[in-house]
Amino acid sequence: MQHTVTPVGIVRSCFKEKFAIPRQPQLAPAARGVLELLPPFDQGDAVEGLEQISHVWLLFLFHQALEDKPRLKVRPPRLGGNKSMGVFATRATHRPNGIGQSVVRLEGVEPGRLLLSGIDLLDGTPVIDIKPYVPYADSISGASNLMASAAPQAIAVQWSDGALPQAKAHALRLGEPLVELIEQCLAQDPRPAYQVPAPERVYGVKFWDVQVRWQYPQADVIRVLEVVRET
Ligand code: SAM
Repeated sequence: MQHTVTPVGIVRSCFKEKFAIPRQPQLAPAARGVLELLPPFDQGDAVEGLEQISHVWLLFLFHQALEDKPRLKVRPPRLGGNKSMGVFATRATHRPNGIGQSVVRLEGVEPGRLLLSGIDLLDGTPVIDIKPYVPYADSISGASNLMASAAPQAIAVQWSDGALPQAKAHALRLGEPLVELIEQCLAQDPRPAYQVPAPERVYGVKFWDVQVRWQYPQADVIRVLEVVRET
């Protein structure tokens, strides 16, 4: 049996590449985006009532991780990338049908557009359904997951003298909390767990239209080197 799904909208996100996106929603509250709804859902009727709701579940397609051959086991980054686990015990992106789900904050509701924060979604992600977060049903006291019992440990993020003014200037230009976005995302330590960073190696990622570059002066410290516009 096969079903066809059709996106109800596309996410326009601060994240322009997969690298350095937090591994789950809510880890970077400054990560913002807009869900642009597609016809026929781009009319006010489809979002009526959402103004009463603080968070929504997004069901989406991992459109940049779709695969033909199903995997039974995956190597989640959370386990260091070298231990495999049954696909259904993880939130890995490589999964049957390529469906992801994230609970995100609803910052605003407009006909045809939902303003979001706390996202972990790549720019261009197709969303296949939206559902309200229902606190009494979705928040389970006493629930456990022994592989992911707490949020990942954050590491220190320092700024070089030049980088912080650059980030503040771009934040003003973009009208976005860019300093917080950089700090929150880099504190998740985007580098693969198996990679020991050489202090001279420069890492980079694009948030919005700026390229952020950093080094690891120590294994658990990030120093932001520059934040420059890249078109
Ligand atoms: N919260 C979702 C879930 O549990 O289904 C996603 C979890 S997944 C581990 C998060 C990662 O998905 C991010 O770090 C990012 O690199 C990746 N990602 C986000 N959007 C994607 C997309 N459209 N295609 C492929 N990978 C994506």
